[in-house]
Amino acid sequence: MSVESLIFEKGAPGRRAASLPAMDVPTEALDSMIPADLLRATPAPLPEVSEIEVVRHYTHLSQRNFGVDTGFYPLGSCTMKYNPKLNEDMAALPGFARIHPLQSDSSVQGAIQLIYELEQYLAEIAGMARVTLQPSAGAHGELTGLMLIKAYHQSQGESHRNLVLIPDNAHGTNPASATLADYRAVEVKTDRKTGGIDMAHLKTLLEANGANVAAIMLTNPNTLGIFDTNVVEIARMIHEVGGQLYYDGANANAVLGITRPGDMGFDVVHFNLHKTCSTPHGGGGPGAGPIGVKEHLIPFLPGPLPAKDERGYYWQDAGPQSIGKVRANMGNFGVLVRAYTYIRSNGPDGLRHVAESAILNANYLRHELSKDYEIAYPLICQHEFVATAQRYKDEYGVTATDIAKRLLDFGMYAPTIYFPLIVHEAMMIEPTETETRETLDYFVSVMHQIAEEARTNPEIVRTAPHTTVIGRLDQALAARKPNLRWQPGQEKTHS
Ligand SMILES: *Cc1c(COP(=O)(O)O)cnc(C)c1O
Repeated sequence: MSVESLIFEKGAPGRRAASLPAMDVPTEALDSMIPADLLRATPAPLPEVSEIEVVRHYTHLSQRNFGVDTGFYPLGSCTMKYNPKLNEDMAALPGFARIHPLQSDSSVQGAIQLIYELEQYLAEIAGMARVTLQPSAGAHGELTGLMLIKAYHQSQGESHRNLVLIPDNAHGTNPASATLADYRAVEVKTDRKTGGIDMAHLKTLLEANGANVAAIMLTNPNTLGIFDTNVVEIARMIHEVGGQLYYDGANANAVLGITRPGDMGFDVVHFNLHKTCSTPHGGGGPGAGPIGVKEHLIPFLPGPLPAKDERGYYWQDAGPQSIGKVRANMGNFGVLVRAYTYIRSNGPDGLRHVAESAILNANYLRHELSKDYEIAYPLICQHEFVATAQRYKDEYGVTATDIAKRLLDFGMYAPTIYFPLIVHEAMMIEPTETETRETLDYFVSVMHQIAEEARTNPEIVRTAPHTTVIGRLDQALAARKPNLRWQPGQEKTHS
């Protein structure tokens, strides 16, 4: 590839958006510090642009995108709640933003204190003994948790346990994490009436293979938005055969201050701070998936862990049984500052109010939407619920995808579609607690209008979106031949 083709078409030679002070490091010193084969022979082919060009470029890009700051985002199982700006202010404080992970403990007392206290808050919220803040995503927490469970079984002389039970409505990361941790994922069926675990099926699995079960991974409330009231009995059955219970707490919005995974009998839990604790997510941005454990799993936790004595806060090395670090440095620190801010600014009563409002909002939508859409499990839900477009597909050829795309025309994001897999034409909706009554009502009115359109003018739904910067993509082509890099001139070819 020629150097010229890397240079974008914006700018002109000599334009600058910043002025840097003259370099005060002698060139010879640089030459001796940097290996010769890493030194550039020619300047990097970067666009040379003025500040206003940079600002306009990125502002325009941001306007082509959808975000929680621009509209309602009912993306089920993703908890796209509003990101309070106070969180950003705190993360930007120089004492947090400008520190280095290798600074001495004595020079970052506030940062270690924040981690120390955040661990305690999350442990209290989850009903767990200790928490590691290292994992950087929910899936990363799952893998870490399963590695702890594996280390625990090994320490008990039970290395033969190779099965992880996972309900058929689980998030796809659960079986993926189990496989990555070198376990075999075994599916547990959903009870068609209750939406919880099919207890008879679980019993059969345990009778046949209980001695080989390492763990069960449960989401409660599950991805159908249903709280499984058999959970204490499930915990008893799994523990009885020597297995461990893993709680997928990615969406803990519904349980904050109401119940705790630890009290339900779970041994390990992960949180998604980028969901439950309002830190930004999406676009592959940094997240955090801390995991909490009960007492018997503490020796296996990754280290170092924050500690405190009369001299102050410090990082304590992990013991000899630790599975080792799962991430560089101390985790996604900026995300942890935001989550800490969220928890502190809500307080215990505020967190409970969060859960109650999230549940109320979801049930309001479930009730209102049920006039036009069939609800897969028409029961009181928790933070989310699953509707289905099956009827519209059968009668008018309008699918969940079409409805999702049509919503974009009204300035709202789409629900999660085609998940969980056990519901055909699924549309999984999670309003979160941060939306106003007016926004929820607008969403209901738009969903009603789309249902009307499906009956009277299905073509407009099938060809949506019509008002977005980019129209409907050829999904097969986008998946098979993804075009991920912008190139000069490409813009003009967009439809
Ligand atoms: C989002 C989610 C995950 C995965 O979390 P990531 O941070 O995306 O890795 C796992 N389980 C459930 C139920 C989720 O909603």
